[in-house]
Amino acid sequence: MIIKDIKILDEQFQVKDHMNVVVEGGRFLSITKGMPDPEGREIIDGRGKFMMPAFYNTHCHVPMTLLRGYGEGLPLQRWLNERIFPFEAKFSPEYKYWGAKLGALELIKSGCVSISDMYFDLVDYGRALFEAGMKANLCNGLVTFDDDASYYTDNAYKDTLRLMQWIKDNEKENDGRLAADASVHSEYANKEKALREAFEFAAENKMITQVHVSETKLEHEECKQRHGMTPVAYFQKLGAFQSQVLAAHCVWLEAEDIDIMTEHGAVVSHNPSSNLKLGSGIAPIKEFYDKGMKITIGTDGASSNNNLNVMEELHLAALLCRGSTLDANAISAADLIKAATRDGALAQGRTDCGLIKEGFRADFILFDLDREHLTPDYDTLANIVFAAQSSDIVMTVCDGEIIYKDGEVLFVDEEETRAKASESFKKVLESL
Ligand SMILES: [Zn+2]
Repeated sequence: MIIKDIKILDEQFQVKDHMNVVVEGGRFLSITKGMPDPEGREIIDGRGKFMMPAFYNTHCHVPMTLLRGYGEGLPLQRWLNERIFPFEAKFSPEYKYWGAKLGALELIKSGCVSISDMYFDLVDYGRALFEAGMKANLCNGLVTFDDDASYYTDNAYKDTLRLMQWIKDNEKENDGRLAADASVHSEYANKEKALREAFEFAAENKMITQVHVSETKLEHEECKQRHGMTPVAYFQKLGAFQSQVLAAHCVWLEAEDIDIMTEHGAVVSHNPSSNLKLGSGIAPIKEFYDKGMKITIGTDGASSNNNLNVMEELHLAALLCRGSTLDANAISAADLIKAATRDGALAQGRTDCGLIKEGFRADFILFDLDREHLTPDYDTLANIVFAAQSSDIVMTVCDGEIIYKDGEVLFVDEEETRAKASESFKKVLESL
């Protein structure tokens, strides 16, 4: 396809007018001022539209769309113990599939093509994302309550191996779309022996490790009482940073934690909505940026957000950062967009994604700029972060394939998905 005469965000995160973009074989073939020979390609009129990289959401629990609104008003630990864990004990693989498919609808419509996701029954629900035309780095977050528990006999390990086998068996068709990450849920939900083993497994297999870190003050302080050190220092001691770490939340990091993470190239997934909604706090991302730490954007699951809209996170991240530092220049719209696109892709190990660049995988979204709240189009990136709505996105493309266009998600039956998701939620409730 050729997207003709369009405004784009180029690989330097500069806005360029009147460009022509050719997509072929799932990748950007050319990005030029002059109109290339169409050679029979489908032509899409880009006038009045803005093309930028699609979003890479770096922290999610996508089947939890089914738990939306379930357990409101509780602090994290009570919310987990009283509502979430009992529900999850009855949450079948089939229900998770429908939860993930429901999530895919929302993600795709709001411009997201790829998520880092922590949950269970990875193959079962990962299939829903794959069928929808998305990508995902899936992991099963280890939870252990017994000192002698071993990672290598735990379901988290077995589930991860099952996904790795699925990826092997479907190598050609999958083409890197579903990826397996390693994971431990958190410091507070684990014992030392199993943590060491999980980190060892990640390092041996050169996998990204997804983990929750210092989300609440209570959790952070209790770790210091338990182990005499912060969660980040404790993870370092157990070998976590021998592989690439993707750490969600990081609200309560201390200066030494930031140093450790920066030194090891660990990446933060900033989840502002979830942190505010659960009363966890505000992650000091300006401090992270100043120290050279890598920041990406995540929504977290729909039971703690309660939506999967990355654009809302961008908007909030900008407001919180500027408001909390009393500095209107604390963070730029371009920096935030980069965090949600290119840096998110890199945090998922997707090195050829996240930029509008020749040779890269063609993951992009089109905004319709002919909207009252985007007029005048003087500072396009400020408009995207501070004024745009996800409903301004009129096309989502993943690996060169159009998966959303003009209000229609092309590979998901919306009506069926909403019905099955509601039915699945009801069935779990009845079984409690
Ligand atoms: Zn989470």
